[in-house]
Amino acid sequence: MSSEQWNRREFFAALAGGAAAFSIPSRAFGQNAPAPIKATRLSDRITMMSGDGGNVGVILSDSGLMMIDGGLPERASDMLGAVTGVDAHPVTLLFNTHWHFDHIGCNETLGAKGVKIMAQENVKKRLSVRTTMESMNRTFDPLKPQGLPTQEFSKSGKMTFGKEKIEYVHIPTAHTDGDTYLFFPDANILHTGDLLFNGFYPVIDYSTGGWVGGMARAAEEIARRCDAKTKVIPGHGPLASKDDLKAAGEMLSTVTQRLEKLIKEGKSADEAVAAAPTRDFDDKFGHGAFKPDAWTRIAYTSIVRHSQKS
Ligand SMILES: [Zn+2]
Repeated sequence: MSSEQWNRREFFAALAGGAAAFSIPSRAFGQNAPAPIKATRLSDRITMMSGDGGNVGVILSDSGLMMIDGGLPERASDMLGAVTGVDAHPVTLLFNTHWHFDHIGCNETLGAKGVKIMAQENVKKRLSVRTTMESMNRTFDPLKPQGLPTQEFSKSGKMTFGKEKIEYVHIPTAHTDGDTYLFFPDANILHTGDLLFNGFYPVIDYSTGGWVGGMARAAEEIARRCDAKTKVIPGHGPLASKDDLKAAGEMLSTVTQRLEKLIKEGKSADEAVAAAPTRDFDDKFGHGAFKPDAWTRIAYTSIVRHSQKS
């Protein structure tokens, strides 16, 4: 089944569930209630929410909560209800790791209440206009003005939320052109946004500046920020570790090198697929929403697009 044949809920329910979800026939998703949102406490002040679109981080302070991403728009009330179950304080800050709809689902609801929304400047740019994601064959309308980021940054920075120190780092041209990961040095926790899909081939949004080689470098760079004990909240899939980042980085970098060689030799996308550049990674990564052939095509196109820009 190609990704185009999945409807949006099926596709992202599957992404959120990781590889295990794919043993369930896709039709089942349409008939079942959506997966419950699960809260996993990672430290005194940081909780990971999963089961809805991208994984969400919740940070507690004495005066309010910070959310990192907000899941799917149609499940905003489920997500905000689950967050209230973690702590009754109101959300006072929402951070968007990137523009994708399965991460910005609470923007309009929280923005309407005056909650500050922080994001890299390219995120606001993408959310302000109708934007197409060719790798998923989908187009998204702009958010209502109240859902747009209210505090933008261009590069990386440091901040504190309550007692929690936070370093936020923008990685240009990886999964999109506006990805930020967040590191909490005291808690030794890191939220990657979609710079890591833990255990399966990732979405690469080449329509908004993403490419496979950039995702390889991002995974390698983030792995270097971690030690063996770092708890890594991935964009999709189960809680991860430095080793998972290293494995993703090695896969992405090897496939990039193989595809770059094939492209240099003048091979078409069909010929690149036939050369099976992902063959030794398919057992580990090929059971997600993207099957090896479809993903190879996306990775190939992302390299071609990136080389046309640079
Ligand atoms: Zn994404």
